[in-house]
Amino acid sequence: MANSIWTIEEFTCPGCGMNYSATREEHTEPHAGRFKCSICSGVVHAWSGKHHFFSWETVKTKPPVFGRRWAGVD
Ligand SMILES: [Zn+2]
Repeated sequence: MANSIWTIEEFTCPGCGMNYSATREEHTEPHAGRFKCSICSGVVHAWSGKHHFFSWETVKTKPPVFGRRWAGVD
C-alpha cells in the first residue's frame, strides 16, 4: 500500500510545559518509540502501535506576557 496518512499532533511536556508538534504517520507494522524534551529531558510522548511520530518541533505559543505592564494602561 502506498498511501500514507500524515497528521500533525501536539503534545505538552509534562515536565516543563513546552509544547511540541509531531507528524504522525500510520504504518501497517507496529513501531515503538518515544520523544524526550530537549529542555528538561522528560518524556513528552511514548508510543507503540501501528504508527510512528517524527519531525518533532517546538511550538511557539503565545509569547510570555512580560512587558505588558510597561506598555499598558494599567
Ligand atoms: Zn520539558
